[in-house]
Amino acid sequence: MTTSAVVRVRVPAKINLALCVGPRADDGFHPLGTVFEAVNLFDEVLLWPADEVNLNIVGEGVDAVPVGPENLATKAFALLAARYTLPAPGVHLEIRKSIPVAGGMAGGSADAAATLLAVNEWAGLGMDAEELRSHAAELGSDVPFALLGGVALGTGRGDHVMPIMQRGHHHWVLAFSEGGLSTPAVYGRFDELVPDGRDVDVPDAMIDALAAGDVEHLASTLRNDLQEAALDLRPDLQKILDAGQRAGALAGIVSGSGPTCAFLCRNEDAAVRVSAALVAEPGIVGVRRVHGPVPGAKIIREHA
Ligand code: ATP
Repeated sequence: MTTSAVVRVRVPAKINLALCVGPRADDGFHPLGTVFEAVNLFDEVLLWPADEVNLNIVGEGVDAVPVGPENLATKAFALLAARYTLPAPGVHLEIRKSIPVAGGMAGGSADAAATLLAVNEWAGLGMDAEELRSHAAELGSDVPFALLGGVALGTGRGDHVMPIMQRGHHHWVLAFSEGGLSTPAVYGRFDELVPDGRDVDVPDAMIDALAAGDVEHLASTLRNDLQEAALDLRPDLQKILDAGQRAGALAGIVSGSGPTCAFLCRNEDAAVRVSAALVAEPGIVGVRRVHGPVPGAKIIREHA
């Protein structure tokens, strides 16, 4: 196999700047109003033709990732294989993970988005952004945003995404903690704690702060309605949030359904100080400085 036969896609993790969660509907889903930001923590998906579908996963937390048909990357391939004529009966998929598994940063969704893009390229399907988005939405609420990247408003189940005008760069510190949190378990606890749900309107103040490039104002508007439920299941996360604030973060939130905690910092120097302080904190298995926004899933061309 020549390297030119390999399609390589890089796809970012997300942080929810706002995650506004309405009441559970009869179909089990919750209406959402969310603001996503893509940050420079990437998984990579490599794809090349094969006689059947093979999946190989390397990197962070791979023991917790299913390698069968339930893997979101395999599901993305299966969805397109059922709808289009592809040049080979299968593909070899290699996922190089850096996004923490079950960490509230949508790593599985990112891999699904990357696979859609890789198959589109390899098979020459010529799908436009809207066609890709509609397949992505079938695979999961966070998959369309992983294609889009940047900063975006997500409505519906989070799958209707629209770019948000924003200025500037955000410096974040991520604190990864032991174990994952199951997204359905966190939503289940949310339903018990807040049976009527919350209002799903993303705060106007956040949209204004993004447009103005005002990071301090933005920090004061961060909102995660799942945080209370995540902290109820993982009370140890409160200590991590407190430690980040003490170290000078403008604000700290649980990322999505957790348990990753994300700290927004005034600038790079502040982020260095916050990350140095968090490294010493018990219960944290990794600390990473990232920035956003960054683009969504992208094909990496070796000689580009
Ligand atoms: P989200 O923020 O979208 O709720 P998450 O970041 O908390 O998700 P993921 O890393 O996306 O969590 O994984 C959630 C679960 O999905 C994992 O526990 C794993 O069993 C399953 N999964 C399926 N495919 C993948 C994949 N490619 N990478 C990671 N997890 C996957």
